[in-house]
Amino acid sequence: MKRNVLIIGAGGVAHVVAHKCAQNNAVLGDIHIASRTIAKCHAIIDSIHEKGSLQQPGTLQAHELDALDIEATKFLIRATRSQIVINVGSPFLNMSVLAACIDTGAAYMDTAIHEERDKVCETPPWYANYEWKRKQACQDAGVTAILGVGFDPGVVNAYARYAVDHHFDTVDSIDIIDINAGSHGRYFATNFDPEINFREFTSVAWSWENGAWKANKMFEHRKEWDMPVVGPSTAYLTGHDELHSLSAILKVPNIRFWMGFGDHYINVFTVLKNLGLLSEQPVTTARGQEIVPLEVVKAVLPDPASLAPTYTGKTCIGDLVKGTKDGQPHEVMIYNVCDHKESYEEVGSQAISYTAGVPPVAAAILIANGTWDVGQMVNVEELDPAPFIALMNRMGLVSRIRTASGDELLDPQSEVEAAVEDRQLVNFR
Ligand code: NDP
Repeated sequence: MKRNVLIIGAGGVAHVVAHKCAQNNAVLGDIHIASRTIAKCHAIIDSIHEKGSLQQPGTLQAHELDALDIEATKFLIRATRSQIVINVGSPFLNMSVLAACIDTGAAYMDTAIHEERDKVCETPPWYANYEWKRKQACQDAGVTAILGVGFDPGVVNAYARYAVDHHFDTVDSIDIIDINAGSHGRYFATNFDPEINFREFTSVAWSWENGAWKANKMFEHRKEWDMPVVGPSTAYLTGHDELHSLSAILKVPNIRFWMGFGDHYINVFTVLKNLGLLSEQPVTTARGQEIVPLEVVKAVLPDPASLAPTYTGKTCIGDLVKGTKDGQPHEVMIYNVCDHKESYEEVGSQAISYTAGVPPVAAAILIANGTWDVGQMVNVEELDPAPFIALMNRMGLVSRIRTASGDELLDPQSEVEAAVEDRQLVNFR
């Protein structure tokens, strides 16, 4: 059954979400894009027409919306008859958009954990501070809410679940490794919203060790990883969203997140931080103006979406899972490699936005055809990962698996034959 989609936000990730919804509008129906700055919604619609992304003629509409306003968001959901809301605005919006979905019955999705502007790095598990408090409300309303369904969090959660279910008798550790081996050619830039990007790294780096939270310092633990395609890569132990659900749901004793940083990024970041320019707390200038330093830094850095035209190289993000199988030590790595230039040629975005934007659209298709329409709040690893992985393989995000016998395509297609009812309606590009 067709389900109209309302996309909230008009940034780098929303751009990819909109293109991918357009490529699949035979199954998804009308597409509405709502954000604070309507001009950005119009620019996305223009680029969909330029690229010829629409699978078939259909509705594509821009709307101005302050998504912190729950009543205005409810009004728009009803006016557009949207049954699925893909929230890819900033993480400050999650709880208000979720409230609007619960009240209207629309399915909800996001790609990052809710944050409050004046708080950084709250008590783990982070989902328990906000989203999970609305679990019962979703259950009572029969509303499907899929949390954190970007790439990381998102696809890496599905990889973890898939590995645990299909490759091991016992699992000891999951290391999620995120390497961007690409180059944007600017002096300094972040690949997604700078404010959100920096907030991830300015405080405690939580890891899940021996079944308990461990507080680490940022850049304290560094490791070389032999990554598929992009080769040996240095990454640092970093706190990240997915640990805050995987630790509660998969019952694996050790779960860590590693992100690749170059020395230049670390130097600039360290200077900005030590000067106090990454603080989320307001300061008052000599002229009596109150400003948030982090918001000023965001304002002077390049818009992440503007990096796309010249970005070259690849990302490699995956889960290295270790445990036992048939009484023997066993390990697998499940991963995706994404090319910045190819992403730009297809939808006009860089690979970070691309890897984050395809998964919520795959999830929307799985909600539309009933496979993932679970009528409750879930994290990605609570859902069957097979149809999700198989569908993304056909939508431009290809998963591979590395075992002792080499690398191969991970395509659980046979498991999904029965699940994907309307396959001819899905644009398998
Ligand atoms: P951007 O900053 O580029 O875009 C955010 C958008 O949200 C902007 O268009 C902004 O509007 C809009 N917005 C902000 N406040 C409001 C409001 N009150 N009402 C309506 N719209 C609003 O971010 P990205 O596209 O890079 O990232 C989007 C989300 O995806 C973030 O939550 C980010 O953390 C997440 N993400 C997840 C990844 C994953 O793999 N899981 C990877 C990358 C990002 P305006 O243009 O007016 O500022």
